[in-house]
Amino acid sequence: MPFVSESVSPLDQAALDRLARAATEAAAGAADLEDLAQLRRRWTGERSDIAQANRAIKDLPGADRAAAGKNMGAVKRLVFAAFEARRQALEQSTASDKLRREAVDVTLPTDRRAPGARHPLELTQERIADVFTALGWSVAEGPELEAEWFNFDALNFGPDHPARQMQDTFFVDPPGSGLVMRTHTSPVQARVLLGQGVPCYVVVPGKVFRTDELDATHSPVFHQVEGLAVDRGLTMADLRGALDHLADQMFGRGVTTRLRPSFFPFTEPSAEMDLLCFVCRGGDPACRTCGGSGWIEWGGCGMVDPNVLVACGIDAVEYQGFAFGMGIERTLMFRNGVRDMRDMVEGDVRFSLNYGVQI
Ligand SMILES: [Zn+2]
Repeated sequence: MPFVSESVSPLDQAALDRLARAATEAAAGAADLEDLAQLRRRWTGERSDIAQANRAIKDLPGADRAAAGKNMGAVKRLVFAAFEARRQALEQSTASDKLRREAVDVTLPTDRRAPGARHPLELTQERIADVFTALGWSVAEGPELEAEWFNFDALNFGPDHPARQMQDTFFVDPPGSGLVMRTHTSPVQARVLLGQGVPCYVVVPGKVFRTDELDATHSPVFHQVEGLAVDRGLTMADLRGALDHLADQMFGRGVTTRLRPSFFPFTEPSAEMDLLCFVCRGGDPACRTCGGSGWIEWGGCGMVDPNVLVACGIDAVEYQGFAFGMGIERTLMFRNGVRDMRDMVEGDVRFSLNYGVQI
């Protein structure tokens, strides 16, 4: 320790002044609280010049002790005051440094992440399913990779039925595997009838596949919701009632529906279900929602063909059923004014956020 050069006499005023000055300068130069603690030990500790000079007082002649004690008292007061002043200064700046470091600048841009949103197709699908579960129906699901038998044969499509080509099916390798990507949710009808028997009231939401190119109104993968009711004494009036209820729930009370004769292999009679355009109510030839026709095609329906019931082991004399199916994309398009189907499949959360974040 270079500053402990020699022992200082408690009576040597000049030496004591030098010592006091050196100690107070050292205290003032402390870089931080840790440095200050070390310096304090060095300048005021047991082995410091100040402590040695203090101890030397007792060896002095009695007459000199009072003066020596007074000198040392003054030196110690000066030095201790210098260390205390520096300690306070350092503590204060440490505290303000800390405050500065931890300050929150409320004007800075935040790291804001989008909360995410559930896909509108999923929400629409669930909304339709909810309408029917509220009536006591249950929700059924089936495989997307389906046996050809369930997809076609059980539903009354003969082996050479033109619908097998009409529907532009994805057949699964190897040829003759008997597997297809299901072209509709209707095969679940057969699965439910075989698995659960009758009476049966189910709604079947799900993905279906056709060999369409993706464009504004087509997609090779899309969604349907299928309904099936089989019980004693069901008629076309029950079908109409169920569909009107669904239309009310989806588009608001008082929406007008229309059934148009049609053909599906698995229903007889079959019908297309249209809604009176709720934008123009049939009065605007330039209406974009209905294309000017006044009616919006929503889905297909009909009474379950007795052949389907028989294929599933149901007594077709005792039991009758009705079935219907609608496209979810199509429903979303005219219900919410979505113009381009590609918006639905691109996965851009900005599209989904318009429908709200629902957990
Ligand atoms: Zn219209």
